[in-house]
Amino acid sequence: MNSFIEQSNFFEGKDPERIAQEYGTPLYVYNENILRTRMDAVAKVITKYPYTANYSVKANTNIHILKLALEEGNNCDAMSVGEIQMLLKAGFPKERIFFVPNNVSAEEMQFAIGHGIMTSCDSLAQLELYGSLNKGGKVAVRINPGVGAGHHEKVVTGGKKTKFGISEEFIPKIFEIASKYNLTIAGINQHIGSLFMDPQPYLDAVSNLLRIALQFKDLEFVDFGGGYGIPYHKLDDEAVFPMEDFKKRLEPILDDFVAKYGRAPLFKSEPGRFCVAEGSVILGRVHAVKHNNGKTFAGTDIGMNVLVRPSMYDSWHDIEVIREGKVVSSDNLMEQTVTGNICESGDLLAKDRPLPEMKRGDLACVLDTGAYGWSMCSTYNSRPRPAEILICKDGSVKLIRRRETIEDLMRLF
Ligand SMILES: *Cc1c(COP(=O)(O)O)cnc(C)c1O
Repeated sequence: MNSFIEQSNFFEGKDPERIAQEYGTPLYVYNENILRTRMDAVAKVITKYPYTANYSVKANTNIHILKLALEEGNNCDAMSVGEIQMLLKAGFPKERIFFVPNNVSAEEMQFAIGHGIMTSCDSLAQLELYGSLNKGGKVAVRINPGVGAGHHEKVVTGGKKTKFGISEEFIPKIFEIASKYNLTIAGINQHIGSLFMDPQPYLDAVSNLLRIALQFKDLEFVDFGGGYGIPYHKLDDEAVFPMEDFKKRLEPILDDFVAKYGRAPLFKSEPGRFCVAEGSVILGRVHAVKHNNGKTFAGTDIGMNVLVRPSMYDSWHDIEVIREGKVVSSDNLMEQTVTGNICESGDLLAKDRPLPEMKRGDLACVLDTGAYGWSMCSTYNSRPRPAEILICKDGSVKLIRRRETIEDLMRLF
């Protein structure tokens, strides 16, 4: 692919240079059409049986984006009281919120119980706590399937070494606690990890969870978790997640389970990244170019406080260069290291990357930033967090989060 922003018409005909001047940089820019298309796609992963896609909101909690998920028929997963409150504010009814926390306090758990929100317990200790707070209630448990998958050790969430879920060997204990507090185990869930492009490990984990599910008699739902990947190397023509193939291979696994269980519970998945990643880019300004010991550094205002994934996970994000509103052609490339403005040597967006030669005043456009982008922003180096805008279906541009100011930071003292 030569240019994703041209091919997808990401700015819907608007001039990115004018957008950058009007709203300032660094700036998160979202495209409503792309977001809605992905949210709609995950809502249709299973059509033969009752199914909901629970958008995992930690990927992006902007309330305007939550409203799009609401309209596209996604339910949502929340990891914290804060995320539940965002969802309630966005208009989600309690039935469409699933609380999947770990290591929460009694107060946090009580908040979900008080609001009638289905909660999953990540450990026997948390199930015990839940039981003491809500005797006779309905609850879910998170199973650690003993297998995991993902793009980086830090995002593998299933498997023997991770902190998540209850191992299979403790299932008898789940029933003991349930009977002590007269709880109904209404759901089981898992999440094996993030960003896989090959469906096989996920399908194996689905089969495994369904095998475990047969031990639970009162299940209203079985939740397979998220993790569907997106092509971060799209400019190098990386293939998309094979959704149709995945759906075809998933169905017989479900058929087999439904036949054995005698009925179909509600099936759920929990995609985060897939829903939002490709629907956003960051526009940043190149402020200085320098040559150190034979290396060229393009210095931008997209620091690790704006996008932490490259520093935190060594993640790759494609970058396009925009000059005077036009994408600079990739015919002539030169090796450059793209950095931010934070005082850390790990503040790198791209290392020794062949890119069109960047000049002061250019815009660096970082792709696929909608997931774990703004939601992981920080104010490190006392840099206020960036603004977010949405390019709407009708071509209009909406400011969906104003830029933070120094006054906002000062207010906490
Ligand atoms: C983060 C998370 C997800 C979403 O993962 P993605 O890789 O963004 O799809 C789903 N479920 C749980 C429990 C999570 O923690």
